[in-house]
Amino acid sequence: MDYETQVSNMTDYDVIVAGAGTGGSTTAYTLAKRGLSVLLVDRKDRDMIGHKTCGDALGNHHIEELRALVGLPDVPREVVEHDVNGIDLIAPDRVHRLRMQGPTTKGMSFNRHKMGQWFVDLAEGAGAEVLAATRVKRLLFEDGQVAGVRLSTGGSDRDVTAKVVVDATGAAAVLRRQLPESSPVERVIAKEDQMVAWRDIYETPDYEFETPDILEIYWDQEQTLGGYTWVFPQGPHRVNVGVGVMTLPGHRNPKDIMKEYVAPNWDFMRTERVVIDSSGGVAPLRRPLDTMVDNNFVLVGDAACQVNPVHGGGIGSSLLGGALAGTVIADAIEAGDTSIAALWPYNPQYMERYGAKQAALDVFRWFLLNVTNEDINFAFARGVIKASDLLDTSMTGTMKIGRGEKFRRLVSGIGNIPLLRRVKRIADLMERIRAVYAEYPDSPAGLDEWKTRLVPIYEAAKQT
Ligand SMILES: Cc1cc2nc3c(=O)[nH]c(=O)nc-3n(C[C@H](O)[C@H](O)[C@H](O)COP(=O)(O)OP(=O)(O)OC[C@H]3O[C@@H](n4cnc5c(N)ncnc54)[C@H](O)[C@@H]3O)c2cc1C
Repeated sequence: MDYETQVSNMTDYDVIVAGAGTGGSTTAYTLAKRGLSVLLVDRKDRDMIGHKTCGDALGNHHIEELRALVGLPDVPREVVEHDVNGIDLIAPDRVHRLRMQGPTTKGMSFNRHKMGQWFVDLAEGAGAEVLAATRVKRLLFEDGQVAGVRLSTGGSDRDVTAKVVVDATGAAAVLRRQLPESSPVERVIAKEDQMVAWRDIYETPDYEFETPDILEIYWDQEQTLGGYTWVFPQGPHRVNVGVGVMTLPGHRNPKDIMKEYVAPNWDFMRTERVVIDSSGGVAPLRRPLDTMVDNNFVLVGDAACQVNPVHGGGIGSSLLGGALAGTVIADAIEAGDTSIAALWPYNPQYMERYGAKQAALDVFRWFLLNVTNEDINFAFARGVIKASDLLDTSMTGTMKIGRGEKFRRLVSGIGNIPLLRRVKRIADLMERIRAVYAEYPDSPAGLDEWKTRLVPIYEAAKQT
């Protein structure tokens, strides 16, 4: 018997992927295309996979990146509700707005359920076995190492083994929480690093959205601290509207904010509405987990904290995480070594493509938490912030506004020097954290020392 046959006979599957969301389905798709045996498990019924609380918006550049990485096909037209051509950011005074428009704001407003079905179909079409209506209950260990999962279908349990288990169960991170204390993976995410949201989808027969290709984000620190209200049209008479807030001590319930703030203050909310969907959700908003792998174990998507910490978009980065993880896992299995060292390359690859930017935006998030409505109105009205600066910051995680000649001009031309000084401080911290990420360790041995370099930067960011 050759070694490969011997290895594949030792476990039920090469890989078990827990959670068939966008992250898990992309991981399974990538692995199955490489010819590995994959079990993709989801607790939802097969025809309900993809149905979840979301703003339903995605930039086309994410799909293009996935096409280059793993040959993802184009999103089918029937999944798309409307094309997106720009994003308006609106100040608390609701008078000043910045329109962000460019190649990276081209995208789609889509039907989340159909999108999810498309992704799981892709994984299945590539050869992954999809097991729906089945809950992943717990991680199984052999000699202290991850060896499989316990599944529960209709009340009956069974154990399934694999060389690698992937936790892609979303913000619930069901398996991550069960890792032993000795694992280098963080098991619990701080409350201050999470967002809670409420979102409704309506048909508005009597109200017409004049620019359905422009998404609107309303900023108001008094109503939605650390978050925002979004109004994302999905056509002239259809809209996805929601509010998100950080789960800081004493935070408000987003459903109440919808009732007390959104309902009376937006024109379309005062017309007849047909409710298509209405639900709440949570998302981690922070840098990615410092390591997203352990022996025989990998995290993808929200379970790995791969969400953009400023705008909360996480589909694109979960696709990226799934493609990179799938490729590294396939390499590791083919080489017959699924230790943390063999799976490690997933970490630096993700950090380089998206994680460093996420960390810089996480630093920026602390600055945003500490600005007042007055600061924001001032910045919008006086042109301290330009749409191109914001777009640049959100795409790259760098903030040129606080640097060099541009900053000196702003300081001499505008009052509110304390605010401008804070902008400069945060821009410097964003640069510092990017520099730390540029030196992300190339093996698990360097992780602890590397993590100590993050601490002073976050402490300083929280004080800005
Ligand atoms: C209110 C809100 C609005 C958002 N808006 C946007 C947006 O407009 N654009 C964007 O890009 N991102 C948005 N996001 C973020 C985005 O939804 C997520 O980042 C993305 O869906 C992550 O995908 P995932 O595969 O990691 O997790 P999920 O899509 O959550 O998938 C996890 C899957 O795991 C399954 N599962 C969970 N537990 C178990 C278990 N024990 N056993 C088996 N299966 C299990 C679930 O059923 C689910 O199918 C939003 C998030 C929220 C909360």
